Amino acid sequence: DRSLVRFNFENTYARLPERFYSRLNPTPVADPRLVKINVELARSLGLDPEALASSHGVEILAGNLVAEGSEPLALAYAGHQFGHFVPQLGDGRANLLGEVMGRNGVRYDIQLKGSGPTPFSRRGDGRAALGPVLREYIVSEAMAALGVPTTRALAAVTTGERVFREAVLPGAVLTRVAASHLRVGTFQYFAARGDTEGIRLLADYAIVRHYPEASQAKQPYRALLDGVITRQAQLVAQWVLLGFIHGVMNTDNTSISGETIDYGPCAFMEAYDPAMVFSSIDHQGRYAYSNQSHAALWNLTRLAEALLPALELEAGGAEAALASAKEALAAFEPQFDAARNSGLRRKLGLFTEREGDAALAEDLLERMAANRADFTLTFRRLCDAVTGPAGDEEVRALFADPGAYDSWAAGWSRRLGEEPASGQTRAAMMRMASPTFIPRNHVVEAALDAAVERQDFQPFEELLDVVARPYEDRPDLEWYSTPARPEECVSQTFC
Ligand code: AMP
Ligand code: MG
Ligand code: MG
Repeated sequence: DRSLVRFNFENTYARLPERFYSRLNPTPVADPRLVKINVELARSLGLDPEALASSHGVEILAGNLVAEGSEPLALAYAGHQFGHFVPQLGDGRANLLGEVMGRNGVRYDIQLKGSGPTPFSRRGDGRAALGPVLREYIVSEAMAALGVPTTRALAAVTTGERVFREAVLPGAVLTRVAASHLRVGTFQYFAARGDTEGIRLLADYAIVRHYPEASQAKQPYRALLDGVITRQAQLVAQWVLLGFIHGVMNTDNTSISGETIDYGPCAFMEAYDPAMVFSSIDHQGRYAYSNQSHAALWNLTRLAEALLPALELEAGGAEAALASAKEALAAFEPQFDAARNSGLRRKLGLFTEREGDAALAEDLLERMAANRADFTLTFRRLCDAVTGPAGDEEVRALFADPGAYDSWAAGWSRRLGEEPASGQTRAAMMRMASPTFIPRNHVVEAALDAAVERQDFQPFEELLDVVARPYEDRPDLEWYSTPARPEECVSQTFC
């Protein structure tokens, strides 16, 4: 039958020992309805989007039917939540259906999120509400289009069931695609149990799946740790360069593959403020915008601790393992700073690296903060400022005191004059580093409200189309690139 979905599952995690997960099927739902299929992503995974959208496909995406070759698992993991260690978290509302090979040769997890209770649910209901499912869909797809490593959204369905949060909400299931669902917390799960064999099996699995070059190193587990540190440094630098705030950088939300994972109370900031927090549960500002690199290093330190028993085997003793871990962690900050500074140079149109460049960028950021300048628009309009005075006018208008921009721009202009490049060439590079379109919070909220309150998915569809081409100028879509008016401002996001 042509309308049947075929996933061609090739599962590897299910071959790991039983203590790595719990085998269980998703819990069926009352009345599954399709909201969205990610057609392009489906094709890149060798899936037929039409079959996915058929009633057979929707039954699978809702968890009512287990596809051929699927071996549903809830994965075991632990994690530090806001600094407090929880020895058992695990997939409390998710099922890994299995793994498929992408057309790019990369293996991907297909996971249902919101698919019912599991042995890891603790007090939770195992379900997801439509709003947060659509938020993850929009923001993860925006991040992918922006060029940031991230899990993706393959589909969203509603369940026809209600979920009980602060309010009664429509239920939904997200189908998530990830390079894997290995987390720092997965290593912590085995470390907390003194299960050295588990740590080694997991590390060997992570090397094969994400860091194959590490298997050739003299010390493969050290090379694995180095690899995760490098990818996380680059990832968090990309977040910071786009004004993205993850919101819940717990160790269970820190992926070993280096992808952004678990979109909860995340947001892109508008007016630049390094202390910005959107999460309604982050009272201390632990995961504030400018704390994100520190949070990542803290999480990587927990990974290094969990890996110590494996490092010990190859380093030849506990002391050598500790020294090796410390040496690996010391590389994080320089790598993060290098990635951030080179990104800032691209955003400022600088082709070469000179002393004083970092200070020039910091000076701009400080003036942006003092003048509540919109992060995304400031950098996008700088692209036009290098091609003519009209652009300059547009940037300075974003500053409460335009003079604060003028005095900075004089120094920027001198620095630009030190390298030969046409304004057009610079602008082309800058436009690839600074998007026009991010999913602005009030626009996201409007799309979620329309879907949840009026079953109107048109704003969601339109927003997805906008964020799919973030680096283009589309003057007809100016509403999407315009900061919220004060009364529209969204200061908190929820998971
Ligand atoms: P998160 O904050 O989404 O990263 O989730 C942290 C932990 O809580 C994970 O173990 C989740 O599986 C679990 N969890 C979150 N929401 C629910 C829910 N509604 N039901 C069961 N477990 C949940
Ligand atoms: Mg088990
Ligand atoms: Mg999580």
